[in-house]
Amino acid sequence: MTGRHIAGRRIAARPLHSTPRAGTFRQLRILVLLIVLLLVSVTTCETRYLSTHWRSPLYVSIYPIAADASPVTRAYVEALDSERFKPIDAFFAREAKRYGVELDAPVKTRLRPELRDSPPRRAPDASIPVTMLWSLRLRFWAWRVSGHVAEPEDIRMFVLYHDPALTPVVPHSLGLPQGLIGVVYAFATPDMDGSNDVVIAHELLHTLGATDKYDLQTDAPSFPDGYGDPHQVPLYPQATAELMAGRRMLSATQLEEPRDLDEVVVGPATALEIRWLPGASPHPSDQAGRGAL
Ligand SMILES: [Zn+2]
Repeated sequence: MTGRHIAGRRIAARPLHSTPRAGTFRQLRILVLLIVLLLVSVTTCETRYLSTHWRSPLYVSIYPIAADASPVTRAYVEALDSERFKPIDAFFAREAKRYGVELDAPVKTRLRPELRDSPPRRAPDASIPVTMLWSLRLRFWAWRVSGHVAEPEDIRMFVLYHDPALTPVVPHSLGLPQGLIGVVYAFATPDMDGSNDVVIAHELLHTLGATDKYDLQTDAPSFPDGYGDPHQVPLYPQATAELMAGRRMLSATQLEEPRDLDEVVVGPATALEIRWLPGASPHPSDQAGRGAL
């Protein structure tokens, strides 16, 4: 989400065979994949509706993963505790209250044990069928490595920590409504705790159907929905960033990433999407959820 450059390993597509039989097999494989996706969507179509009811807290499991072998990352991950993610709970409590949500704690994060496995990666230029296959693989992977806990687990966020000295630029994080899964590429340094929280909260709302509110080419927040306060006078510098824009405008041409969630708000357009405001219907493409794979 954050407009950081994609530094990820590119996965080359497997060369396609040109024989008619191979072509038929490929079409069959895609057909099977589409049927599976359809079944997954139909069987779980109510999950997002339920996940944005806001009548009971959403339990968000955070699974830390050391993304490299650096001792810095190892020390950081081993020092994590549940308190570390409380600013996320406090942020959602504060913002939900502004929209009249009658829940003291709409989001409850829980730190899970470290995972020694990493989620499958999607090539940035992946085709639609490849992306669909990757989505299924990710959900299968998430099902395999998580969920073996007695406590409720509505949303799973897999946070991969990187030593910033080794990986100064991390790939784009993501949040999938299908399966309520987020994959966050974060930095293993206390200096970045605040901005890691912003990315986790941003991807968390993607899993609930919120859309990006910034220009994908320039990273600039969209006006008015991506501004913390589009009615602010004077308009610049914006005092806050909108969560799904991820940046605040300092002037008409300058923007800045928020340091932490204290500098971030949830704007009305996002509130509508996650049903903190009445009137929103679930996004048609988001009609899927947990329980699948
Ligand atoms: Zn995003």
